[in-house]
Amino acid sequence: MSSSASLSEIETLEAFTEELVARLSRVVPEGEVRLKAPLAWEILRLKKTVNAVILGHNYMEPVLYHSVPDYTGDSLQLSAVAAETDADVIVFCGVWFMGETAKILSPDKIVLVPSTKAGCSLAEGVTADDVLRLKEQFPGAPVVSYVNTYASVKAVSDYCCTSGNADKVVRYLLNAGHDRIIFVPDRYLAENTARQLGLRFWMAGGEEEAPASGGGPMVIGWRARCEVHELFTPEDVENVRRQYPDAIILAHPECSPEVIERADVAGSTKLMVDYVRQNPAKRFALFTECAMGDNLAAEFPDRELVRSCSLRCKHMNTITVEDTLRSLQTLTPRVELDPDIISRARKPIDRMLAIR
Ligand code: SF4
Repeated sequence: MSSSASLSEIETLEAFTEELVARLSRVVPEGEVRLKAPLAWEILRLKKTVNAVILGHNYMEPVLYHSVPDYTGDSLQLSAVAAETDADVIVFCGVWFMGETAKILSPDKIVLVPSTKAGCSLAEGVTADDVLRLKEQFPGAPVVSYVNTYASVKAVSDYCCTSGNADKVVRYLLNAGHDRIIFVPDRYLAENTARQLGLRFWMAGGEEEAPASGGGPMVIGWRARCEVHELFTPEDVENVRRQYPDAIILAHPECSPEVIERADVAGSTKLMVDYVRQNPAKRFALFTECAMGDNLAAEFPDRELVRSCSLRCKHMNTITVEDTLRSLQTLTPRVELDPDIISRARKPIDRMLAIR
């Protein structure tokens, strides 16, 4: 996880603007940076007044990502680090389910998500009722819910997981003697995890009937998909391989199994960021939301990041510097959750964190 503390320590708007222009010169037109720099400057001033900590998900647009967050990273990491601070207010520059996770881990803080339109096709792809029906259909099978779910779904789940530890959580449940594991909501993450561990996979809610017991452990998936990652095709990977034979291809496990099996490395946004930071190779191709490639390209001017600039998440795109400023000025929109949901949704997160 990285922090942009050095930018917030700059003493004048002019120096701040010049530093931001220099940092983003490879990825954002200078005029856009100059337009937004005073807003970012005002955010940095205001956050001290209201004692806020600002979190920036890896998919935030480059000017926002590189200017105002105290911490950048993936959603669970960010929520956990914010809970450790003495801030009164958390501003989560990310989508709504991320704000809910931050609220679950910091129930006494005010949590703001700058846009109420920042949804997610995965989080919206499964409801608590869907999960309860699956539990009824497969009695005794534990439910693992990806962190990309709303609090109401976490509240009826047994374990949470991230894209970085899904295999670890499923392996733990296998070792605990379970031979059927319900995994919601991302069909591809579930299927990729099953493949990785050599398990059978069956998708609930589809045409095929549920296989009978026996025949080996099985992951029971759900039909939701990330509307960004599902667009990558095996042909896209092969085209990049042909055009850039020296590029290391990294793909997010929300991509289809056919994309994952053609990539060099599969992993979470955290794994991708760490990989690029630590690997001396000169060229990488990222099969994930395109803003992350821009953010890494700005951070590593000596590397080339091949990315599909058209694949921008429309939900992440609703979070802007302008909205973030307005959110701090008005202390809205706030994430509000029922205390009972908070306490029930916290349990699967704690169980996941307890797995070693
Ligand atoms: S990139 Fe996919 S998983 Fe992430 S917020 Fe957008 S729709 Fe949801």
